Amino acid sequence: MKGIQIVEPNKLQIIDMEKPVLTKENNVLVKMKAAGICGSDVGIYHGTNAAATYPRVIGHEMVGIVEEVGEGATKVKVGDRVIVDQVVACGTCYACRKGRPNVCGNLQVRGVHIDGGYREYMAVPDQDCYLVPEGLTDAEAVMIEPTTIAIQSCSRAELDQEDTLLIEGAGALGSSILRIARLSGATIIVSDVDEEKLQDALKAGASYVINPMKDDVAEKCHELTDGYGVTVSIDAACVKDSLLTALKATGNAGRVITMGFSTAPTEVNQFLITSKELDVRGSRLQNRKFQDAIDLVNENKVNLAGSISHTFHYLDAQKAFDFVDSKDPSIRKIALLFD
Ligand code: MN
Repeated sequence: MKGIQIVEPNKLQIIDMEKPVLTKENNVLVKMKAAGICGSDVGIYHGTNAAATYPRVIGHEMVGIVEEVGEGATKVKVGDRVIVDQVVACGTCYACRKGRPNVCGNLQVRGVHIDGGYREYMAVPDQDCYLVPEGLTDAEAVMIEPTTIAIQSCSRAELDQEDTLLIEGAGALGSSILRIARLSGATIIVSDVDEEKLQDALKAGASYVINPMKDDVAEKCHELTDGYGVTVSIDAACVKDSLLTALKATGNAGRVITMGFSTAPTEVNQFLITSKELDVRGSRLQNRKFQDAIDLVNENKVNLAGSISHTFHYLDAQKAFDFVDSKDPSIRKIALLFD
């Protein structure tokens, strides 16, 4: 079988791999149908993801068909169409004991620390497989993973209808968060430098939008909330000043959620956090949110139809990544399709 491997940063290769064999642990064989290209895949390709190790078969948004089940596999059967959870956790460390395997001390993420979904077959535990809603195409089903990431950030934010939320960034991550956040009934403000994305955000349920090229985001947030500030900020822009902006925009007793992976220092001051007693919380990956995301799709609360802007055959992965690098404004979400 074939797989797509990042041999070293900026070097993508189609390789021949052994087809996986089922084991007691990895008791389900999944034949890949579609895999999404995520910002973090692009980061691993370009060598800017500090967590990744090389060489690596990337891809963590993995949809396929169960081809074989082995010993002890009860959750799925042959022929089921599934999406695979990317989190592999030890189950015994402090984080795992606290019910937070997504930040396991020995965390192994498929497509980052261990081989992921850009290959024809993978063997995984049955418990990591989730049945995909029938109404979605294989490519659309890939979007369940970004939906789980959005659910995670909203749950870290403890978002409810009383909140006014600032989402910084209206790209793939920000628009997924908007899709979930609006279900809470919160009032939502979205900031982005791209006017077209701001218009999309208004159509998708944002009440206000702010373009940082035109207005000071934090000041505008205070204006829109009678001076109090928003009660929650989620930083889905993850750029140099976005954390500082979030700390300024958020009012007393609010929450600030970070999602970036940059190791570049950013200057903030303690007064902003202490004086308002802000909770600053990271949101990483997702903590068993796949069923929640699938339930929302099945209940028609989240619509993923039409969310894929481009598809490529998996053997054309190089073309797909080159296209991502072109920063073509029509790009929303790209999926690789398998045979
Ligand atoms: Mn992703």
